[in-house]
Amino acid sequence: MDQSSIDGLRAHPVAERFHLIEGKHVPASDGGQMDVLSPIDGQVLTRMARGTVQDMQAAIASARAAFEDRRWAGQPPAARKKVLLKWADLIEAHALELAVLGVRDNGTEIAMALKAEPGSAAGTIRYYAEALDKIYGEIAPTPGDVLGLIHKEPVGVVGAIVPWNFPLMIGAWKLGPALAMGNSVVLKPAETASLSLMRMLDLALEAGLPPGVLNAVTGEGAVVGEAMGLSMDVDVLVFTGSGATGRRLMEYAARSNMKRVYLELGGKSPNIIFADAPDLHEAAKVAATGIFRNAGQVCVAGSRLLVEASIHDDFVADVARISEGMRVGDPLSLETAIGAINSEAQLKQNLGFVDTALAEGGEIVTGGQRILEETGGYFMAPTIVTGVRPDATLAQKEVFGPVLGVTAFDGDAEAVRIANSTVYGLAGAVWTSNLSRAHRMVRNVRTGVMHVNTYGGSDATVPLGGVGQSGNGHDKSLHALEKYINLKTAWIKL
Ligand code: ADP
Repeated sequence: MDQSSIDGLRAHPVAERFHLIEGKHVPASDGGQMDVLSPIDGQVLTRMARGTVQDMQAAIASARAAFEDRRWAGQPPAARKKVLLKWADLIEAHALELAVLGVRDNGTEIAMALKAEPGSAAGTIRYYAEALDKIYGEIAPTPGDVLGLIHKEPVGVVGAIVPWNFPLMIGAWKLGPALAMGNSVVLKPAETASLSLMRMLDLALEAGLPPGVLNAVTGEGAVVGEAMGLSMDVDVLVFTGSGATGRRLMEYAARSNMKRVYLELGGKSPNIIFADAPDLHEAAKVAATGIFRNAGQVCVAGSRLLVEASIHDDFVADVARISEGMRVGDPLSLETAIGAINSEAQLKQNLGFVDTALAEGGEIVTGGQRILEETGGYFMAPTIVTGVRPDATLAQKEVFGPVLGVTAFDGDAEAVRIANSTVYGLAGAVWTSNLSRAHRMVRNVRTGVMHVNTYGGSDATVPLGGVGQSGNGHDKSLHALEKYINLKTAWIKL
């Protein structure tokens, strides 16, 4: 991908966005709209529909009708597969357009967005398209006078609420398996990253997905997200976002139809560096990218760096040097390593965490401040704080920004104790040449994903999900399909 084709797209005016209901772009029932600000310069990029409760109900009704008349679930698997494969192809064909639009909306550095957004979304949709005709029911080992069949049925209407950090990638994690299994879906994109995802849905229709099978309503989480959560007609709710919202979704389910709720929430993932790491400089490089890519706005970010005391000072100095060399700025430049903070509110919150860390005895090694303010955009220097006690706010609470807290440890047992001392359990890593130690750490660190001598980069074949307050259920891999099916027993007397 070359810079000139990106620059060719960066100045294009962005059309206003409306909901997608029953295959049509429709405005909010009361005509309401909201400004879409670009984090690159703080300017209004376009406007989009500010959804109402009625809009959400209309979208759910459309999805329900589409499910009941089997216009999608009733198609032969080969036909559904063809549509989803075509959708993946179209996403790839429009990759640059989707990536640039998404970056103008959410601020991720383009080099990363190209791979992590349309690239990953197309791969995910294709993975589930290819899987859908390889999922069999079961025959139970019953006595000979009965036949026990276990059918795998779609659940019905899936509600999906997604965040702003990787709208296409995370959107596809939900849409791919939900649609592959024959469900209808209503999607609620995040306020500050709706545009590229809504565009990706248009491509699904172009690929032949019947109208009504996939609907989307834009607007505020507290209005349309809540209406989805409280709906009596949504069967399963899948979510990626903050713990506070996840908690609300469980309450909504309890107060309405007890819909199943699957949550992928935050993390405070430990990146554990032992002195016997195979290559400490490589570990330092990956420690920096493992927290600072997408300006730390990554649920699995390695936001706690645990370093064996004997190498602490040299290692931290190396990570700081590397971080200072990471170019922060224009997210649409291919040279940029760290893009924008998604919103002004998020930037303020990040800076607040730095103040608290200092007040609690931490020391800033590098960064700590807003930069490039003259652009009007929201940028922050990659920030490293040392001397973070395991019980300090910076070690306990997710920042979701470019702030790395460093804690020294002595020996395996202390590393595990500190690693497991938060309410979260999403990801983590251990760097060591000792095979036994690596396996022991994988076993003992309470988390959904554990990396060894690397950080990040896993593909569609392995599950991603948290333990503790990082959530439940899994995205990616064949295990994700379980969220989108019901098991039905047929007990047949012969
Ligand atoms: P973040 O803090 O990362 O923005 P949120 O959990 O607030 O995380 O947002 C993730 C998604 O949840 C967004 O699509 C947002 O609109 C939605 N959301 C926010 N509040 C609610 C709510 N009360 N009910 C349902 N969805 C919500």
